[in-house]
Amino acid sequence: MRWNMEWFLSLLTVVTLGQLVRCEENRCSRSRSRVARSILDKSFQDIMRKEELSPGTECLLKPERNMYWDDERHKWSEIANNWNCLYCGKSFYNEQFLDKHYDNRHGSTVLTGPEAVCLADHCDYLRCDIIASTKKTSFWEEALCKQKDLLVLRKKCQNIMKSCIPSHITDAEKNSLLDKLDDTVCSFLTCEKYWENPYKEVPPSRTAAYFIAGIFTVFGFIMYYVMACSHLYADEKEFLGDSDGFVRERSKLPDSRRYVSYPTNQGQSIRNRQGMVGDR
Ligand SMILES: [Zn+2]
Repeated sequence: MRWNMEWFLSLLTVVTLGQLVRCEENRCSRSRSRVARSILDKSFQDIMRKEELSPGTECLLKPERNMYWDDERHKWSEIANNWNCLYCGKSFYNEQFLDKHYDNRHGSTVLTGPEAVCLADHCDYLRCDIIASTKKTSFWEEALCKQKDLLVLRKKCQNIMKSCIPSHITDAEKNSLLDKLDDTVCSFLTCEKYWENPYKEVPPSRTAAYFIAGIFTVFGFIMYYVMACSHLYADEKEFLGDSDGFVRERSKLPDSRRYVSYPTNQGQSIRNRQGMVGDR
């Protein structure tokens, strides 16, 4: 009887853990949705803003259809390790803890129903792993890229873009907008461009290094030209007077560019001596 009880409890534990894992797998990932949202903001939304248009009513990529849209608007972070919940004012060390807090305490704020979209489900054609650098690509993965599979993905991307075109614009405007969206969002779905990251940001430290290197290069060029000009200018002069009382006389050797320096009075005495020899 006791053995039966233990066996039953073990089975119950296994089933419960299995259910939990399945729930975790089925749940829309907040972090991947965030990456997808960020990519869309830099590409799809950016074009819509520039064209001063709103996506069509059927569009799955409308920001307010993102199931975590309200939660994302209720985040506030002044510094990297301080994330605040604007629903209740609690603070957390990182964004992941704040996400867990939303799941545990503010579950009702997540959009549900037919309008709700899990943006993480759009990560395949948005290339979330490539853009967020969460996946290291191997040589063989690139070498064995299947153009046919990417063509299917590109078609999916193009169909979603088509569904987002507003209905009130002219056909010419629709085609132009579709071309822009295809170029910015879907055109990377080829074996040649799949691993490119058009949104890669240069770290601030590297920017500073480039800036300093730029200053040194410009300074080097200026110094080079100043030295070159002064050298050419010096060639034009036979004698140059120095403030320290020295007179520089050009060498008599025709091919030489060197100068011989004498103290002022010594140079005069030499010239006097030469004059005396010439008089003889
Ligand atoms: Zn809260």
